[in-house]
Amino acid sequence: MTETVVSSVPAARRTGEPGRLWHTFCDMNTVSRGPEFVVARAEGVWLWDSSGDRYLDGTASLWYCNAGHGRREIADAVHRQMTLLDSYTVYGDFANLPALELSERLAAHAPVADPRVILTCGGGESIDTAAKLARRYWAVTGKPEKTHLISRTGGYHGLHGIGTSISGMERFRAGYGRLLEDTSVVPHDSAAALEAEILRVGPENVAAFFAEPVVGAGGVYLPGPDYFTEVARICDRYGVLFVVDSVICGFARMGNWFGIERFGVTPDMVVFAKGVSSGYVPLGGVVVSGRIADPFWNREGNPFMHGTTYAGHPSACAAAMANLDILEREDLFTVALEVERHLDGALRTLAGHPLVAEVRSGLGVMGAVELTEEALTERGITTADVFAEARSRGVVLRPVPRALLVSPPLIITWEQIDHLVSTLAASLDAVSSR
Ligand code: PMP
Repeated sequence: MTETVVSSVPAARRTGEPGRLWHTFCDMNTVSRGPEFVVARAEGVWLWDSSGDRYLDGTASLWYCNAGHGRREIADAVHRQMTLLDSYTVYGDFANLPALELSERLAAHAPVADPRVILTCGGGESIDTAAKLARRYWAVTGKPEKTHLISRTGGYHGLHGIGTSISGMERFRAGYGRLLEDTSVVPHDSAAALEAEILRVGPENVAAFFAEPVVGAGGVYLPGPDYFTEVARICDRYGVLFVVDSVICGFARMGNWFGIERFGVTPDMVVFAKGVSSGYVPLGGVVVSGRIADPFWNREGNPFMHGTTYAGHPSACAAAMANLDILEREDLFTVALEVERHLDGALRTLAGHPLVAEVRSGLGVMGAVELTEEALTERGITTADVFAEARSRGVVLRPVPRALLVSPPLIITWEQIDHLVSTLAASLDAVSSR
C-alpha cells in the first residue's frame, strides 16, 4: 500500500521561507516566520509534535475530542463506510443509511419535543441554519416581521454570516461593515434582561433567542440555578423561539447528550457539532421540534430552501455513530460527571494564586482561570504568555483575552488532571517572576 500519511514537515517548510498555510484565528505576521507548532500524532489525551515531544491535550483540540484521540474503531467505521459509499447528498428525497440511523439516535436522546434532525458540517453552519429556520418559521406562519435575533454577552455561535452578526463578543463583529442589524445582545446572567430586551424590541419582532448551556469560548460562564427555567418561561410567554447552542456542551461534556438537560427545559431547537463525532470528521446539525418542523413537513409547497453540499455525509455520520457507541459503552456520561468534580476541585486550588482573579468551573468538563486586572493591565502579563509557558512545559491550554480555558478529553485521569493544573500553576509562577 502506498504511504499517503505525511510523516515529516514538508521540505519547503524547512527553508525559513514563509509557509503557505494561512492559519485561522492567527496573526500570520508572527506565525509565518515560524516555526509552527506541528501536531504530528495523538493518542488518548496526548499529542506529539513533529519533533516527537509529548503534550497533554488540555483542550480536546477545540473542545471537541470528547472520546480522546486515536480511537481505532472510529477510523475503522469511516474506512468501512467509505469503502461502501464514500458520500452522497441528502438533497431532495436522497438519503443514506448512516444519516438515517444517526438522526434516529440523536432524536431518541434530544430534549426536544417530537424532534427532527438537520445535518450539517459544523457548528457555525448549524447556527446559521437554525437562525434561518427560525425566521422562515415565523414567515410561513404569518408573522414575517418576527426576524430579530437575541444572543448573550460572551456567546460564541461560530463565524458564518449570522453567527458573526449575533456574536456576544464585539471583536468578532467589528470590521466587516454592516452585518444583520435586527440583532441584539443581552447580559448572559440575567433572564430579566432578556425579558426587557424582548419588550424593548417588541415581541412581535423577535424571532429567537440563542444561548449556550454554559458560555464556552467566551470564558466559561455558568448560569445561575434558575436562569434557564426563567428563560424558557420568557421565550414561551412572548412567542420567541428558544435555540440552545450545545456545540461545546453536548455529547457527555456535561454528563448528558446536549448539556441543557441539566436545567430541565425543552428548547425549540438544539444546535450541535464537535463532540457528536469527537471531531474525527466534521459534523454538526440542528435538532428541531415538531412544532417548528410542522409547517414545512405537513404543508404542501413549503420547502425550507436551505442546505449544503456535504450535509448528511455518510462517512461523517459513520464516524459519529462509532463515537456515540464509545460514549455509551464506556459510559462517558457518568465518567464526565466525576471528571467535572475532580477538575473543579483541582482548578480551585489556583484561586489563591496572586495572578488569578477567579476560577470558573464545576458545570461540565471545562473551566476558566481568569487573570487579575492588575496582572493584565498594570503588569502587562497576557494569557498568551501563560499559554506559551504551559505549552513549553508540555500542556496545551487555550488562551482567551482574560483567561486560560481548559476542556480536556473526557477520558482524562485524576493524575493527568493534577498534572494539567500543577503545570498551569508552575506556568503562572514562571510568568509572574519574569
Ligand atoms: N457554537 C459554539 C458554542 C461554539 O463553541 C462553536 C465553535 N467553537 C461554534 C458554535 C462554531 O462551530 P464551528 O467552528 O464548527 O463553526
